[in-house]
Amino acid sequence: MSRPRKSSGLPLLPEQAAWIDQQQDLAKHHECIRAYGPGPAGATCEFCIYLYRKMFSKTYYKCAMRRDTNGPGTDHRCGWAACGRFEAIATPLPVPVSCDGEDE
Ligand code: SF4
Repeated sequence: MSRPRKSSGLPLLPEQAAWIDQQQDLAKHHECIRAYGPGPAGATCEFCIYLYRKMFSKTYYKCAMRRDTNGPGTDHRCGWAACGRFEAIATPLPVPVSCDGEDE
């Protein structure tokens, strides 16, 4: 199925539609993937040495390869796909199953 082109109304070539879909998928990725490219297939941040925890009344996960503003915008999700800076850790952090940047 070809998608109409917004500006001209002409249908996109399959290669063009695939490229747009690829760019949109890439835009959804976190900033490390955008900066360093994708990591090993199947690897997640949970198993990377650059993931660390900040513990206050709650625990917040951060990536050492990103800046840290002490705000939710730089919270990191353990289940995110690894980026090109991924380095495997021998023992992963004890993270909850649904680690989404912070836990109780
Ligand atoms: S793979 Fe490592 S360096 Fe890359 S985003 Fe995840 S925690 Fe950060």
